[in-house]
Amino acid sequence: MVETVSEIASLWGRILQKVKEKLNDSNIFDAFFAASYVDHMEGSTLVVVANTGLAAALLDTKYRGLLNTCILETTGTNLGLVFVEEEHLKKEAPVDKKPSFFKESHLNPNYTFKNFVVGQSNREAYQASLMISENPGKLYNPLLIYSNSGLGKTHLLHAIGNSIREKHPNLKVLYCTSADFINEYIQYATGSKVGDSLDTYFKNEVDVFLVDDIQFISKKPGTMEMFFVVFSTLYAQGKQVVITSDQHPNELNGLDQRLRTRFISGLTLDIKAPDLPTSEGILRSRITAGGLDVNDFEAEAITFLAQRFSSSVRELEEALNRLLFYTVNIKQTKHIDLAVTKEAIQGLIKVQDDSSKLSETKIIATVADYYSLTPSQITGKIRTSQIAMARHISMYLMRTLLDDPFEKIGQAVGGKDHSSVMSGVKKVEKALKTDRDMQDAIKELTSRLKK
Ligand code: ADP
Ligand code: MG
Repeated sequence: MVETVSEIASLWGRILQKVKEKLNDSNIFDAFFAASYVDHMEGSTLVVVANTGLAAALLDTKYRGLLNTCILETTGTNLGLVFVEEEHLKKEAPVDKKPSFFKESHLNPNYTFKNFVVGQSNREAYQASLMISENPGKLYNPLLIYSNSGLGKTHLLHAIGNSIREKHPNLKVLYCTSADFINEYIQYATGSKVGDSLDTYFKNEVDVFLVDDIQFISKKPGTMEMFFVVFSTLYAQGKQVVITSDQHPNELNGLDQRLRTRFISGLTLDIKAPDLPTSEGILRSRITAGGLDVNDFEAEAITFLAQRFSSSVRELEEALNRLLFYTVNIKQTKHIDLAVTKEAIQGLIKVQDDSSKLSETKIIATVADYYSLTPSQITGKIRTSQIAMARHISMYLMRTLLDDPFEKIGQAVGGKDHSSVMSGVKKVEKALKTDRDMQDAIKELTSRLKK
């Protein structure tokens, strides 16, 4: 009995030799038989691959008799014959059947719950993420996490994905950014992925959908429509969706109203800038993860870095990398004290100091921080009373501290006209006469800005 691949190949070679002799027409032989091979045997049937559809059809009909004779003469038995076209076989082969979308999207194994440092600023987001990875689809759906950049959204999203793959290996996890989704949608909509429905892909291939930086989907009606379909499909099947955004969905300009409602229908949490102990914890954890000894770092050095780079963990990490580079390559010292730390990050601090000069941007950032808003909320179009007030206060401070003309202020707060700026500044001036809260706010903000 022939069994191995090479036995089958050699058998087919002998059969073809016989065909060639009997056929006695090398053109025909070369055109239809020479390139054929046996892919595998199913029982006593040979599954023969022909190089074109025409060849497969001819072997199956016109030359079947000849082939049967040659098989009998070569092997002494009758073997069944099935012919397939090479192209067709490739499409059918299960090993080749990869999902047709999101081939470039992967989870980063380095972002885990274990190496995520938890503090007050991110505790809720961390806990919700952890719970979701224990019980995908069962608790909060969708979970939406928003924050300024560099505060750990992407890290948490990957941590959820990695943890679910570990605890629920049967679930299919897809991580992508909204930019990836837009790309897939465009290819789908322009027909280069015709035949594959994005919706069907999600229905069949995705159990947990992790989508990062959803803000980019705004103002793209086609993509938003498709996203809505996909979201609804997954949601209806009880599949977990986790979304991150750089702003609260209510503040995302140009986001479809139906999506906005869906996004905040589960659990919506924000991550704040880390407080000092958290920043210090992150630094220590990074130092240890890099194979270094925390004891080589003076506590003052760590505190100094944590204080200086507190608005973004990404910046904090950059500052640490720079420090390590400097101490290893330039200072060649293992012991890291405050002086060497200051030296190492001089360049970075200079940049910071420049940006800390009083400016429209700094005023907006400071006011936003004071009211727990994001700068883009202040420069945006939404007019909840709190945002409008923060906007008016920003205008007032630009007028009084920078002596800016109304037009310039209008531009700085996102393109408001001369008269709205004037009326905004007036409102603050008027409130200042009687309103204690306003007086306190302006006093505190002015002192923060003059630091
Ligand atoms: P975002 O997506 O919010 O912009 P990232 O998740 O990309 O932020 O975080 C930026 C960097 O900071 C990443 O290297 C991430 O690992 C790190 N990071 C953020 N928060 C934490 C944390 N709490 N513990 C440890 N590393 C963190
Ligand atoms: Mg991110």
